[in-house]
Amino acid sequence: MSAGRAGYTVGIDVGGTKCLGVILDSDNQVVAETRVATPAGTDNLVEVLAEVSTELVRIPGEVDAMGFGLPGLLDTEGRFRFAPNLGGPVEAPIAELLSERLGRQVWIDNDANCAARAELRIGAAIGVQDAVLVTLGTGIGSSVIMAGEVQRGAHGMAGELGHMTVDAHGEPCACGRRGCWESYASGSGLRRMARTAAIAESPSQILVLAGGDLENVRGEHLTRAARDGDVVAVEVLDRFAWWLALGLANVSAALDPELMILGGGLVADWDLYEKPLQKHYSALVLGSGHRPDPAIVPAALGERAGAMGAALLARDEFASR
Ligand SMILES: [Zn+2]
Repeated sequence: MSAGRAGYTVGIDVGGTKCLGVILDSDNQVVAETRVATPAGTDNLVEVLAEVSTELVRIPGEVDAMGFGLPGLLDTEGRFRFAPNLGGPVEAPIAELLSERLGRQVWIDNDANCAARAELRIGAAIGVQDAVLVTLGTGIGSSVIMAGEVQRGAHGMAGELGHMTVDAHGEPCACGRRGCWESYASGSGLRRMARTAAIAESPSQILVLAGGDLENVRGEHLTRAARDGDVVAVEVLDRFAWWLALGLANVSAALDPELMILGGGLVADWDLYEKPLQKHYSALVLGSGHRPDPAIVPAALGERAGAMGAALLARDEFASR
């Protein structure tokens, strides 16, 4: 049910490399979408987000509300504080800047919280009370659902599961710390493991698929090699699944969710690592065999979840003003 006149809502999900904007109608259908590269710097980001939302509004002619999902730490005052995947400290009153630029109130939340909101409302977590959402992209985006609500914590910064330390002396993370879960169980983690394997093995099928250029090796070369039955690639994916399982086991110890939703680009190859993930999770979780396992499932809404959730957030907040 829409409380507004138009029934349309704009939602924009800001990623490390691109922004995805959608218009949601009152039946939660995406009626238009657009993509644009994420610019560097707060001023440029505000300008690009204003342009994209203005462009989207032109399609139905009028919208009720606008919401934005941002990657990193936001506080409850609408300030964007810290964004490792956008280059570090931001410290900008982003909600205020966007409101001023657009001449209307806007609503913001962490991008993964937005995706969780969408999965909870219209995706994989309908009717679920306790769940986590983990998006596997360049880094790890994550959100915690408890008692049927997305949790924001005391300061708005809850649910950054990707920055749980899994190896105190491990790989450096974009956040400036070491050994964060996202340094392993993400697209960049998989890419690093693929490169290491390509160097160690000669001849390497992974390297062949990357055109013989080590710098060009990406996760997709690894998954393609694994699909071709390359033993090294299958081993690397098994290690990736172990890191993913380690973090999920830690999450279970802390939160005991009934559902774990995996989203992001890496879910396209879910069939390749689902079995090893389940195997490693069972071996790593506290009290294995003496507790119910959570369901671990791919996200239902795909890459649009964050943008759809930002639109849903804006619609809810607009209706309850
Ligand atoms: Zn980190």
